[in-house]
Amino acid sequence: MLLVGNGKLITRDPDFSFIPDGCVAIRGTDVSMVGTTSEIRAKYPDSEFIDAKDGLIMPGFINSHMHFYSTFSRGMTPPGEPAKDFSEVLERLWWKLDKALFLKDTYYSAMTALVDCIKCGCTTVIDHHASPSFVQGSLFEIAKATKEAGIRASLCYEVSDRDGQKTAYAGIKENISFIDWAEAQNDSMISAKFGLHASFTLSDLTLGRCVEEMGGRNAGYHVHVAEGPNDEKDSIQKYGKRIAERFNDFGITGGKSIFVHCIHINKKEREILRETGTAVVHNPESNMGNAVGSADIREMVKEGILVGLGTDGYVCDMLQSYRIGNALCKHSSGDPNAGWTELPLMLFENNITIAERCFPVKIGRIKEGYAADIIIMDYMPPTEMNEKNINGHLLFGASGRNVVTTIANGKVLMKDKKLTELDRNQIYAKARESSKEVWKRL
Ligand SMILES: [Zn+2]
Repeated sequence: MLLVGNGKLITRDPDFSFIPDGCVAIRGTDVSMVGTTSEIRAKYPDSEFIDAKDGLIMPGFINSHMHFYSTFSRGMTPPGEPAKDFSEVLERLWWKLDKALFLKDTYYSAMTALVDCIKCGCTTVIDHHASPSFVQGSLFEIAKATKEAGIRASLCYEVSDRDGQKTAYAGIKENISFIDWAEAQNDSMISAKFGLHASFTLSDLTLGRCVEEMGGRNAGYHVHVAEGPNDEKDSIQKYGKRIAERFNDFGITGGKSIFVHCIHINKKEREILRETGTAVVHNPESNMGNAVGSADIREMVKEGILVGLGTDGYVCDMLQSYRIGNALCKHSSGDPNAGWTELPLMLFENNITIAERCFPVKIGRIKEGYAADIIIMDYMPPTEMNEKNINGHLLFGASGRNVVTTIANGKVLMKDKKLTELDRNQIYAKARESSKEVWKRL
């Protein structure tokens, strides 16, 4: 038994949300008991005890949309003229970077991001990968990295026509082999989806092939939808319908599927998403950085669409995404009252639902029977903290840098800011070496 106590315990259990001097007992991979520190220590006097030193004890964060490989863009100057719009950002930056990745770069870029995830307290990640020059085996390289890091991950490969039919088909094959492998593993730490880039880089022929190869598998799809305005224009021009209608006609919508961004969708498309139970993932910092507009998350939430929160590879710090999402919601709606309820709902509730659709385990709450994904944050509230204002304290007073201890599936991955399983210096040294070669190939 491992105990984590002597902290302000935020459980995200609606019946029992805050214990000022709380403690969690972990048996193996799961939470076995939640209570006050004195109560739990009295019950298990000989167990190992991690002292939260009056900081916050809370569930590890979930990132519902990530690109591990994007970490290799840090500090990079893309060749040629700077991008004028989002299409050029893709062509001049991301599609050059992903094409330059060898398998070892896929592995090291993932490891770099995973170190960051542990440091920021993010214990579950839903990733979307592309490496068109080395498609085959790429998801297995990432799975090797997530297993070594001890982070729970859902992986997929983004199928696209942008590199020709052969590469598109290699992507389909990689998704299917990985879905079947992950299914056979029956491991609560790894799962798979079928990855698709976006409507404007997927012909009807390719989409049809994806759906056909998917057969009866129930993994769901993970796809970018209406990120830039041209995606919708392209769909209307080529297929005479909007993206959500097109994807729905192919059977790509549904409770297991994740539609990322959904900035330029209309009411009819929102209805399709709601009716099919398709999840949407909002990535505020990325949307602002790419200048593609702002998704109407208020309307989507009001209509009952499941909207979660991701970082789109910008960062691994979910509290940064939370803070920027809050500001963007207010800024774009012109309403200083917007976002107060939507952002906590997205990060602390809907991301749990989205993740639970991916993994055969209960995650995201500190409650008996849930996976022990638990973090400690060094945070001293300068004003009163209670069960009603937790989210306000986190919004204005904390970031991933406050995380001192990270536990995933009962395993301690970082204690008092020191990684216990990974050698950061060695990983970063390898990543610098590897990324230098990648940059030369751009
Ligand atoms: Zn993305």
